[in-house]
Amino acid sequence: MDYSKIILNKGKEFSLQRMHPWVFSGAIAKKDSTLADGDIVEIYSNQNQYLGTGYYSGGGSISVRIISFVKTEINEEFWFEKLNKAYQYRLQLSILNETTNVCRLFFGEGDGVPGLILDYYDGHVVFQAHSWGVYLQKDNITTAIKRVLGSALKSIYDKSAETLSKHHAEKSVNGFIFGTDQEIIVKENNHLFKIDFINGQKTGFFIDQRDNRQLLGHYSKGKTVLNTFCYTGGFSVYSAAAGANIVHSVDSSQSAITLCDKNIELNNVQNHESYAVDTFEFLKDKQNIYDVIVLDPPAFAKSRDSKHNAVIGYKRLNALAIKLIKPNGIIFTFSCSGVVDKYLFYNTITAAAIEARRNVKILHYLIQPADHPVTPYFAEGEYLKGMVLWVE
Ligand code: SAH
Repeated sequence: MDYSKIILNKGKEFSLQRMHPWVFSGAIAKKDSTLADGDIVEIYSNQNQYLGTGYYSGGGSISVRIISFVKTEINEEFWFEKLNKAYQYRLQLSILNETTNVCRLFFGEGDGVPGLILDYYDGHVVFQAHSWGVYLQKDNITTAIKRVLGSALKSIYDKSAETLSKHHAEKSVNGFIFGTDQEIIVKENNHLFKIDFINGQKTGFFIDQRDNRQLLGHYSKGKTVLNTFCYTGGFSVYSAAAGANIVHSVDSSQSAITLCDKNIELNNVQNHESYAVDTFEFLKDKQNIYDVIVLDPPAFAKSRDSKHNAVIGYKRLNALAIKLIKPNGIIFTFSCSGVVDKYLFYNTITAAAIEARRNVKILHYLIQPADHPVTPYFAEGEYLKGMVLWVE
């Protein structure tokens, strides 16, 4: 098939040669004037050397996102190979196993297709296109999911209306592409969670904290634990099940707290109380009560412009927790803001510790798990970072 050709300006080929998958609008020397959003295009250097195949997006600063660095046809077979590779990788790493049937099946650039997210909940797949170019491939991707998962597949739900840009979102409606609505309860390291991807935030569950929840369990026995920004209680369930004295879960969303309570119940643990309230409000009178505190706020910065305010927000939250935790307490602190990189986050925590004037030791640096792969070519993909602090 003949795809439209985009020629780059001289010297703009290097980033693609280093396998970074984005082409910025300023790098383009020549393109067809008829190009439409989502069209498949081939990128060439100024010396007419093939660099990659991707999909075009007009308007924004990123004009093309690369989905292949070798010349190929973007058809059913292409998508099958991409998705099958991602699935086999997760099986080989035993991310899906007897005790865990939930994982991210496909993670955008990390799995070789910017803009494509697939989450797997015990055979139920949530499809989220973050770009129109991916959305246009929906039929091929659906066929590939069916081929890859075979009889394990129970349903596919399209939840792209909230991740596509406004203009494209109007042309997409959330709904089942395959199968129907069912009650879903998944297992994560043998802990049970009810999943509501239709009404829940993102695709229904924060799958990216699996390994970090396991680590919290390790530090929870006999402890008084506070899980702030708890959402559906992932950290709370692990901590309570691992024998915490008591776990307090806090989230400003009542529907999140309702799901959190339900998950606690599913796991047959009693040592738990929940509060539908703002975290800062809740922390006002909580000096010297908690041995362990989890801080997992929503992304404080969604764009570069809000980076500065985000840093102030992380510093304030962390300084507060470091000040009020009991002596020899442990803090799990996270940031999922892509624009706040790990170094800035570490420095922000340092600033918070200095402000709090307590003796702090760093026990762990945390990151997203292997089903959210980070590649050396695309540092931007490393969005989740965390630290575990010992506060004397
Ligand atoms: N730790 C969770 C994911 C957190 S997502 C997990 O492992 O599943 C962030 C959560 O913070 C959301 O549920 C959102 O409702 C909540 N939230 C946002 N602002 C808040 C605030 N000021 N106080 C308390 N909760 C808040």
